[in-house]
Amino acid sequence: MCLRCGDTGHVDQPVVARRGFLKLAGGAAVGFAVAGRAFAEQAKRPPKPENVVSPDVALERLMAGNRRYVEGVARRHDFKAEREALSMGQNPFAGILSCADSRVAPEYAFDTGRGDLFVVRVAGNFATDDGIASFEYAVQALSTPLIMVLGHEACGAVSAAIKSIKEGTTLPGHLPALVTSISPAIKAVLDKPGDTLNNAIKQNVILNVEKLKIAAPILSKGVEDKKVHVVGAVYNLASGRIDLVT
Ligand SMILES: [Zn+2]
Repeated sequence: MCLRCGDTGHVDQPVVARRGFLKLAGGAAVGFAVAGRAFAEQAKRPPKPENVVSPDVALERLMAGNRRYVEGVARRHDFKAEREALSMGQNPFAGILSCADSRVAPEYAFDTGRGDLFVVRVAGNFATDDGIASFEYAVQALSTPLIMVLGHEACGAVSAAIKSIKEGTTLPGHLPALVTSISPAIKAVLDKPGDTLNNAIKQNVILNVEKLKIAAPILSKGVEDKKVHVVGAVYNLASGRIDLVT
């Protein structure tokens, strides 16, 4: 049972591990030390006690929220009360690695409020070093128990990368960086039967789930200790339904 909230369902964050992270963060600057004290304080009193849950419960909660969103029965969120509750900290129950596509809005798609989701977004929803570091912060400092890589149907970034690879063309500006990051998924499915775009979107999710799972030392340890689950899913643009793929 959790000594903080009395809940039997969540995995408590080891004090030693938290201290280890704070030691790393606190050595750099006074600002980090102040933040460290805030984290320690937050650990005693999570601003959203209902978010202190196990990885399995976190996933059930995400999918239940998506069902409400699909059915058009999303909850009314009291942003005023949430703002006040969250002014001293945060303890999101899930991290989401989403595409930057404007049609995919994780907070809406899972019918969640402020302080519930820790969202990293980049066109093509792949894990960069910065993205991994962001989730390390969520897991280590905020005790987030679940990370979901969320791809989506008709992803323009994946589609453009497929076109560039198939035609051997170089996209303008910084876009080749996106192609490089998405290309492992595309190359893995180019010779597979079925729709190349749909296959690549799914494969891109699968590969980035694996990348996050083995990201040492923080995420890999969380997964090994079963304190963090990493899952993958794809968002259907027309229905809003999110299907798990890993
Ligand atoms: Zn996209």
